[in-house]
Amino acid sequence: MSEGLEQGAVRIVRRLTEAGYEAYMVGGCVRDKLLGRPVKDYDIATSARPEQVQDLFERTVPTGLRHGTVTVLLGGASYEVTTFRAEAEYEDYRRPTEVAYVDSLEEDLKRRDFTMNAMAIDAEGQLVDLFGGQRDLAKRQLRCVGKPEERFGEDALRMLRALRFAAEYGLTMEAMTWHGLLRSIPLLKHIAMERVRAELARMIEGSDPDEALRLLILSKALRYTKEGLALAAADAIGDWRELRRLEDAEARWAYLYLRTGLSSAETADDLRRLTCSRAFIDAVSRIAAAHEAMRAANQPDSAAETAQPEELRRSWLRAALRFGRPALRRLHGIYALDAACLAAAFGPHAGPLGAQLLQRGAAWLGEMPVTGMAELAVTGEDLLALPGMKPGPALGRLLGELLDKAALGAAPNEREPLLDEARRFLASMSNRENETT
Ligand code: ATP
Ligand code: MG
Repeated sequence: MSEGLEQGAVRIVRRLTEAGYEAYMVGGCVRDKLLGRPVKDYDIATSARPEQVQDLFERTVPTGLRHGTVTVLLGGASYEVTTFRAEAEYEDYRRPTEVAYVDSLEEDLKRRDFTMNAMAIDAEGQLVDLFGGQRDLAKRQLRCVGKPEERFGEDALRMLRALRFAAEYGLTMEAMTWHGLLRSIPLLKHIAMERVRAELARMIEGSDPDEALRLLILSKALRYTKEGLALAAADAIGDWRELRRLEDAEARWAYLYLRTGLSSAETADDLRRLTCSRAFIDAVSRIAAAHEAMRAANQPDSAAETAQPEELRRSWLRAALRFGRPALRRLHGIYALDAACLAAAFGPHAGPLGAQLLQRGAAWLGEMPVTGMAELAVTGEDLLALPGMKPGPALGRLLGELLDKAALGAAPNEREPLLDEARRFLASMSNRENETT
């Protein structure tokens, strides 16, 4: 696939060159090719203007005419072809929306952020490396094109990109670049939270999240975002080595907040500030809330001496009913990773309970006969047909009661046994009412 992708890019570059324009593959694809890493997409830079690009290729989409970008569709793939440009004026420490076309590749490469991102390859496969990108890659260092403080001042997002690239590519920060970054980091406050989120997500969900966090903490980047983040408190925690062992994004983010000692509400607030999707905020804060529920159900004073494995199983499954099994599976992954988080749920004296949970928790979830109301063998209508049952809050309570029994295995999830349970419950309710009146 990727070879075909590259061939398409070469064809586009040749076509432009044959038509008398200059054209190159540029940026990330050149970097990744030199590093022998898989290339996600090939970007092309050309002296041709967008209209000229549109004239030259059969299938194009005007995806970013304002930025000089035309998408060319070729062989089932798409390529961004962008006219050589400079970024005329930077306002408010962000990249401008207006661009100015320039005539030379050199001008175009000069505006790019890091030397490794500022290389090009022509139609003959010749590398154009005007700023020492290859040398820096050989030294495995990340370096700004031009003066770091100027470049970070033009567009503060570059600092987050720098941290991400350093972590993801295992590069050290060249000294001037690092010092420029440290001095410029307060400018991050000018960057929209969704752009901050996109970079943070790639760092946390990437291949070396612990290194990314180390750099985020060292640079104090988390303290200078436009909207304050509770996550900035992660500064106090030294080592995030285990983070990469968590497989999905939800678990990683939840671990970050949980270990920083932030509540589920604080977690949700932060993720909202970061403009994460609702589904994502929900999934992550459920993990945090499930942790809180476990903690509440297993407080040391009540749990340490009296709690039995059966009580533990019940509180675990009840949390699964409330917050969903995916949240509990992820929480289990976090507990398995970090004994301190497990201890936070059970208190320092609950070693055996914690060990139980680690051993059995995943199996308990797997064995749950029912995981939600929809799977219950009786419906609200069935219950309303019982004598003495009226619509209203009591119905919801009864359904909840039955779900609890079925999910915990105290009653089979079958119609008749559950209706029997319901009758017994109603009888005990009316007895209780009679006693109090
Ligand atoms: P990846 O796609 O893995 O994030 P990339 O380097 O391809 O890496 P893109 O955001 O796709 O990153 O940008 C393509 C190229 O545009 C970069 O290689 C770089 O040359 C340039 N570029 C992107 N963002 C900036 C920026 N904020 N400042 C300067 N140049 C940038
Ligand atoms: Mg890219």
